[in-house]
Amino acid sequence: MDDLFLKIVDGTIPSKKVLETENVLAFHDIQPAAPVHVLIIPKKYIPSMNAVTEEDLPLIAEIHRVAIEVAKKLGIAESGYRLINNCGPDSGQAVGHLHYHLLGGAKLGALTS
Ligand code: IMP
Repeated sequence: MDDLFLKIVDGTIPSKKVLETENVLAFHDIQPAAPVHVLIIPKKYIPSMNAVTEEDLPLIAEIHRVAIEVAKKLGIAESGYRLINNCGPDSGQAVGHLHYHLLGGAKLGALTS
């Protein structure tokens, strides 16, 4: 399986790590869309949000916990941030491994279609 983010998890592809837990990794996006742009991923392969099962819900909770910790660590917890998941072609999902974009560090624009 050619999974870019699994290669980041195993270190084959280098990344700028922000935070790591047993099951979750947070690292800076290579093409930031905001002053703070961190990707938060499960270390295990899940292709997209559509593939999340009941069994994965503790992992999704852990991703949210990591998002809060990342926001605190990078100093944007109080100013505010956005957590986004792209799922499927219409959303623009480009990498087939579940990931959440944590964006902040500036006033963000309104969500658009
Ligand atoms: P998507 O469009 O929601 O799938 O987002 C994929 C994200 O992965 C994009 O914001 C890319 O800039 C980011 N990305 C792609 N390759 C790398 C990498 O090697 N390191 C860090 N981020 C990456």
